[in-house]
Amino acid sequence: MTNQKFDPYINVDPGTMSPYEHGEVFVTDDGAETDLDLGHYERFTDENLTKNSSITMGKIYQEVIERERRGDYLGKTVQVIPHITNAIKEKIYAFEDSDVDIVITEIGGTVGDIEGLSMIEAIRQVGIENSVEDVIYIHVTLLPYIHGSNELKSKPTQHSAKELQSLGIKPDILVCRTELEIPENLKEKIALFCNVRKESVIANKTAKCLYEVPLMLEEEGLAREVCKHLKLEKCEPNNKSWEKLIDKIHNVSDKEITIAIVGKYIKLEDSYLSVIESLKHAGIENGVTVKPKLIDAEKITESTAKEMLKGCDGIVVPGGFGNRGIEGKIQTIKYARENNVPFLGICLGMQMAVVEFARDALNLKDANSEEFDEICENPVIHIMYDQKDVTKKGGTMRLGSYPCILKKGSIAEKLYKTNEISERHRHRFEYNNDYREEMEKNGLMVSGTSPDGNLVEIVELKNHPYFIACQFHPEFKSRPDRPSPLFAGLVKAAKLVFGDGGKNKIS
Ligand code: GLN
Repeated sequence: MTNQKFDPYINVDPGTMSPYEHGEVFVTDDGAETDLDLGHYERFTDENLTKNSSITMGKIYQEVIERERRGDYLGKTVQVIPHITNAIKEKIYAFEDSDVDIVITEIGGTVGDIEGLSMIEAIRQVGIENSVEDVIYIHVTLLPYIHGSNELKSKPTQHSAKELQSLGIKPDILVCRTELEIPENLKEKIALFCNVRKESVIANKTAKCLYEVPLMLEEEGLAREVCKHLKLEKCEPNNKSWEKLIDKIHNVSDKEITIAIVGKYIKLEDSYLSVIESLKHAGIENGVTVKPKLIDAEKITESTAKEMLKGCDGIVVPGGFGNRGIEGKIQTIKYARENNVPFLGICLGMQMAVVEFARDALNLKDANSEEFDEICENPVIHIMYDQKDVTKKGGTMRLGSYPCILKKGSIAEKLYKTNEISERHRHRFEYNNDYREEMEKNGLMVSGTSPDGNLVEIVELKNHPYFIACQFHPEFKSRPDRPSPLFAGLVKAAKLVFGDGGKNKIS
């Protein structure tokens, strides 16, 4: 089984978009910069996805135009139908000769969007090119709840089902997003108006915890309906491991651990989605409820740090680009370092931890990253050698999984319980080895490097309860039942150092 997300926008991938447009950019093992939904897919199915799993209309157009320029269309007029729709179908059929038996293709946007029409048309064609029992259409609709009259309204669902049918697709199943349970008579009405069987109207009720959703859908009979349609009669849903996870979630104590995420995209939680989910996974593992708190890096200065971080038990400084909020991140890290607050720095967060340490412990007052000061005297973070001549922005960073060797006896090695790991990357700048000896002498230990020892992947502080920072993004590999070791370590330290009902929180 595999998942695919089709996005109708013209960007070739979300890699160059601001997180405020589409939330975080998720990165796969093979280095694709993708829609954040791929992160959900990986966390829910525990399958690692690839470049084939994230396709935008921009990518489709780019491929078709490249073929046209090569002359592949032999003088024909190149058109949306069949050339664009064929290129879309190729992406779905790409799994035909693999060991994948089921492909779940999600089309983003809303039925009726002009930009998504050719994707809808392509999946319509897939339906007629294959046997009825080999293709199933699941339409996700909205049942708004009107507070004033205390009722669920079925009109938007009726309209989008009608719109979908006018495009030639009859939905086999409706998954209805709803705040409340759907009463039987409303399910009957939806079935009647939307041309589906009543058993195929599935409620997708807002859950307290996202990870409860698969079992809720099972209770509604989603898998039963899908298997019936696909004639997979012998298949029985096996929810055992998921039930175990939910049990574990329900048994987490009420003890709340607050972890600050100090960044610049604080108005949209989706900007840090995988970081937030990883903190939750770490909470499940440690038996505590983790409350992530987004804090605006731009508001943090040396004098406001304590007040701004009040009530927090640990701090994450996540990845990012550009200099907005940089000095606030540096002051946050200084506060964590000097006040024994458990800290995890990720990518830009690691780079800023190195800058902070250089400025304070090495007394290099002008230390910086070349990303923010190209001519600075002490570029403790500098551009990677093979990035120097790169001018194009899209898909040109160091992307995807790379191995990392962990130092014997380090916190990193203890947490990962091995000395070779593989994590996902997305960066252009790196730790400058010219400063390595001096940094290590002063206590910022290099505890993870590339196998040749040249690229610094992890640094950690001695004599601190938990101060660790990595060049990679551990949040992309965290799973609800297998948290990222670096996040698990952070929450464990926060619980030990500050936890205990919060009596020692930053006050
Ligand atoms: N801007 C930094 C770089 O390109 C960090 C990137 C990130 O945090 N993902 O190296």
